[in-house]
Amino acid sequence: MVSMRGITKAFHGRPVLRGVDLDVERGTVCCLLGRSGAGKSTLLRCINVLEDIDSGMVVVDGRLIGHRLEKGFMRRLPEKQLSAQRAELGIVFQRFNLFSHMTVLENIVEAPVRVRHEPRVEAEEHARELLRKVGLSGRENSYPSKLSGGQQQRVAIARALAMRPKVMLFDEPTSALDPELVGEVLAVMRDLAKTGMTMIVVTHEVGFARDVADRVAFMDDGRIVEFGPPEQVIGNSQHESTQVFMSKLR
Ligand code: ATP
Ligand code: MG
Repeated sequence: MVSMRGITKAFHGRPVLRGVDLDVERGTVCCLLGRSGAGKSTLLRCINVLEDIDSGMVVVDGRLIGHRLEKGFMRRLPEKQLSAQRAELGIVFQRFNLFSHMTVLENIVEAPVRVRHEPRVEAEEHARELLRKVGLSGRENSYPSKLSGGQQQRVAIARALAMRPKVMLFDEPTSALDPELVGEVLAVMRDLAKTGMTMIVVTHEVGFARDVADRVAFMDDGRIVEFGPPEQVIGNSQHESTQVFMSKLR
């Protein structure tokens, strides 16, 4: 479903991604682990073109993302086509970036109505169904400031799902939460994984990765140094940086 080949990216001449290859099969969950600064967020942002890559390619569902091939050269897509592609890739960040002046329901229906041109009635019906799924029925008319961090993050997940994405990207969705609120967000993500959603999850929750991930990729200094099923990468790490990372968790 998602294929990355030879992705490189530098900031001000300093390489942050040094040739990343990654395949995530349809309906599977890939967790991306690695210490701070390894390049995890940058990689995620390259998938939905929040960052431009320097070289390599990203293919989602058989389509080149962010570029088109023209006479053998990769050309960047115009902004309008980029936003259409972005709409197929849901993303949830560490900080719940809900629109504070909109209710929960308005937050969720905004993009489907404006970007996908869904009739409002249909979008609202879908939003209510999604709120049920994330355990927030009845909170349609609340403003984000009236919700806990965990509830806000669950709204952010519902809002991303409202665009009917092919893939969901998560960048440390629980790391800004109070510890007692982490579980409710991870539970929603577990349920989502069970529905067959293709997911790429940057997380420090190794327990979640062990239980839910089909594949774990461990990143170090802009490279994926270890990739495989969780029992291999987490349970029986081969690479030194993975071993050091895992040993600090125990
Ligand atoms: P963390 O676990 O702390 O979130 P990460 O693995 O997500 O780390 P990235 O955020 O991808 O790491 O950052 C990788 C490197 O790229 C870091 O050294 C960071 O300072 C640098 N970097 C990221 N974004 C930018 C930017 N917009 N401009 C300059 N440098 C950047
Ligand atoms: Mg990050």
